[in-house]
Amino acid sequence: MTSSILPTYSRAPLTFVKGEGSWLIEQDGRRFLDFGAGIAVNALGHAHPALVSALNEQAQNLWHVSNLYQIPQQQNLADRLVDLTFADTVFFTNSGTESCELAIKMARKYWYDKGAEDRFEIIAFDGSFHGRSSAGIAAAGSEKLTKGFGPLLPGFVHLDWADHEAAAAAISQKTAAMIVEPLQGEGGIRLLPDACLKELRRLCDDHGILLILDEVQCGMGRTGKLFAHEWAGIEPDIMMVAKGIGGGFPLGAVLATENAASGMTAGTHGSTYGGNPLACAVGCTVIDHIAEEAFLEGVQRKSGLLRQPLESLVAAHPDIFQEVRGSGLMLGLKCKIPNSDFLKACYDAELITVPAADNVIRLLPPLNLSEKEISAAVARLDKAAKACETCV
Ligand SMILES: *Cc1c(COP(=O)(O)O)cnc(C)c1O
Repeated sequence: MTSSILPTYSRAPLTFVKGEGSWLIEQDGRRFLDFGAGIAVNALGHAHPALVSALNEQAQNLWHVSNLYQIPQQQNLADRLVDLTFADTVFFTNSGTESCELAIKMARKYWYDKGAEDRFEIIAFDGSFHGRSSAGIAAAGSEKLTKGFGPLLPGFVHLDWADHEAAAAAISQKTAAMIVEPLQGEGGIRLLPDACLKELRRLCDDHGILLILDEVQCGMGRTGKLFAHEWAGIEPDIMMVAKGIGGGFPLGAVLATENAASGMTAGTHGSTYGGNPLACAVGCTVIDHIAEEAFLEGVQRKSGLLRQPLESLVAAHPDIFQEVRGSGLMLGLKCKIPNSDFLKACYDAELITVPAADNVIRLLPPLNLSEKEISAAVARLDKAAKACETCV
């Protein structure tokens, strides 16, 4: 029978009817500990009182006006992001995919305006995920994303993950930009070494090429800094943001330096919904919480509290797990059994996790979870691992 919902997702038989902090309540009453957080979206958990009141207040005043007019909530959020980051300017979108579209357009327009129309190539890396649009799948390049959707948007060069020597060799007169996730999410929680990110920055500087960072998943406090590239002490020219920035309300952004954004003049890009008052009222409240130094230190501390028992868990279940990966509260368990089996065992233990490529299970809890919830998650992971051992 044809599904009334296009069947592009294979969905778990779970229906959540309520969210409270780090918990999701199933329609049968079971309480699941949410270590997926909508795939790193619900950065402050579910139904955070400050987010609920920001949304309610704005909803009673004004939901939507066009970007043809001034939007103070959007201006506030842009000012905050510019204050807190490398960026001079911000464009708001509704998703990571839309942020990818603009990042690529911006890089190409930059060179076009410099009279270098032939500089349109963008260097990208294997295992990446940049969204599901025609540009996003062409940028990522994996057959899993692109098969059947050709002809693809031309102009992308794909290199092995974290191979900065290959990047040096791939740069030519055609190269406009490089695009990379500082910490791959969908690709299996693969951390780009700081030294590699620094080297990519140096290559871009030497050749005047733009560095685009995709921080859609690893940004907004996820690694314990506001943005993951801060760990390497470098800055991008263009950065894609989404997921956590809206705390569950659809919102994304492209941040850029004045130089990188110089081609994007009036009429060159737009969005009906991007940056509307509702989304930005919520976004302002999210950033007020996450950008606090004490909050980010809390993420780092909780990361340590989670990571240590995870290392013990891996040691205790050598037939199930290979290793712990990642940074901050963006951690992965590389599995030896199919990750889908472990995912199901987690569901049985009333724990939500998210699968990724490379046979990894992602742990992406709300950033404001409690220490008790960390212990509860570890106990549930242990229960799930034990259940899998009886099947191996
Ligand atoms: C999720 C994701 C995207 C796409 O974001 P959507 O909001 O689903 O369009 C792009 N890049 C990365 C790194 C992501 O994790």
